[in-house]
Amino acid sequence: MELIGPDHELYDVLRRPALPQYDEIRPQAIARCASVDDVVEALAYGRSAGLHVVPRGGGHCFAGRSSTTGLMLDLSALSAISVDEGVATIGAGARLADVYRELYESGLTIPAGCGPTVGIVGLTSGGGLGLLGRRYGLTCDRLVAATVVLADGDVVRCDAEREPELFWALRGAGGGQFGVVTSLVFAAVPSPAATRFRLTWSRDRAAEVIAAWQAWAPDAPDEITACLQVTADGVQVFGATLTDFDAGPLGALAPGVDLRSDFSWPALKASLSEGGADQQVVHSKSEFFRAPLPPDAVTRLLDAGCELNFTPMGGAYNRVPVDATAFAHRTERFLLEHVGPDRTAVRRSWSIAHDHASGHVYPNFPDPDLTDWATAYHGPNYPRLRDLKARYDPADVFNFPQSLGGSR
Ligand SMILES: Cc1cc2nc3c(=O)[nH]c(=O)nc-3n(C[C@H](O)[C@H](O)[C@H](O)COP(=O)(O)OP(=O)(O)OC[C@H]3O[C@@H](n4cnc5c(N)ncnc54)[C@H](O)[C@@H]3O)c2cc1C
Repeated sequence: MELIGPDHELYDVLRRPALPQYDEIRPQAIARCASVDDVVEALAYGRSAGLHVVPRGGGHCFAGRSSTTGLMLDLSALSAISVDEGVATIGAGARLADVYRELYESGLTIPAGCGPTVGIVGLTSGGGLGLLGRRYGLTCDRLVAATVVLADGDVVRCDAEREPELFWALRGAGGGQFGVVTSLVFAAVPSPAATRFRLTWSRDRAAEVIAAWQAWAPDAPDEITACLQVTADGVQVFGATLTDFDAGPLGALAPGVDLRSDFSWPALKASLSEGGADQQVVHSKSEFFRAPLPPDAVTRLLDAGCELNFTPMGGAYNRVPVDATAFAHRTERFLLEHVGPDRTAVRRSWSIAHDHASGHVYPNFPDPDLTDWATAYHGPNYPRLRDLKARYDPADVFNFPQSLGGSR
């Protein structure tokens, strides 16, 4: 384990998270971990020095939970990826683009998100939504085992037979709660031959597109994931299909559709995240919905002026019982995210939609404003998760506001 202090040339490179609003949080030290033993040593050091310890994967947490003024564990060197008979073992430091590229060599992939530098553990721990999710479920639904270093230094391999309760909790409770995950094992799926689609409209068509999308996308065939984005510049429905493209009722509204079937799966994913990686501070709030937003709420939302991102749920996401994993959001139709540079405007937009929402919030889109966060993130799974937290991290070493131990 290498300890990096503020004077080290790598300090700023390693400590900077993906979201610039957390740029100013400066850890006392960064522990660079390249092995499981390094993680054990770093945890022991952090505890003996009385430092708040947080693991850092891809650094994309919307609530800044992988930043600390204490000891940050940098896991980027633990990024090995291997494949054996359809099973992928992925180190905790791997980012999504690495995962797609490496698995593609074996004709495989996993259902997961588009952000190329999002970390595999953060994404999987909170669920994991992506273009193959309606077909294959959440990223965490494909998890078959994990290796975790607990706060006391014990190294635990968990799966459906060994430490099944920890394995259950790792699938959807959100990152950084139970220990430091050093690797994840997935049942991979075939890397698909897919078609990317994009339909576009001017912004004055937004209300009718939203109405048609809400009635179609959450119930579309599992093979189609159609996301809807409304910005100041216009409206687009985009995504991927594993079968022939049929835009349902949106087809009748669209002036044309841009179809591309010549991408490899990693290239298709990369093409959908192009242009999103600037360093501006943006705020975001989101919620799940079980019923369509009524037309008057849509009108008010559009007047509020934030960027709106609708993600379809349904399909395989919703065919898993709510208590089968820690992920408690198995009856939702869609997720709506409000994004913008002005926090007050984002809050206003969110509260317009909130009256019609299910009250559930995706654990990977944490929202510091939430008061009843336990129900919002964990629903009926909260009491079981709270008990497991007391069992696996009794001293509440891994803590942050809204964490299961509740000491901050
Ligand atoms: C640009 C962008 C694109 C996104 N796209 C998607 C998407 O397509 N689909 C989707 O579902 N979500 C998406 N997200 C949300 C994403 O899933 C979460 O932000 C996720 O928590 C990021 O994980 P990370 O490792 O990158 O972040 P980090 O900030 O490093 O970690 C997130 C949390 O997990 C903990 N953690 C990290 N590594 C470990 C570890 N090894 N052991 C234990 N705890 C750990 C951290 O301490 C922190 O609490 C996106 C976010 C951004 C900013």
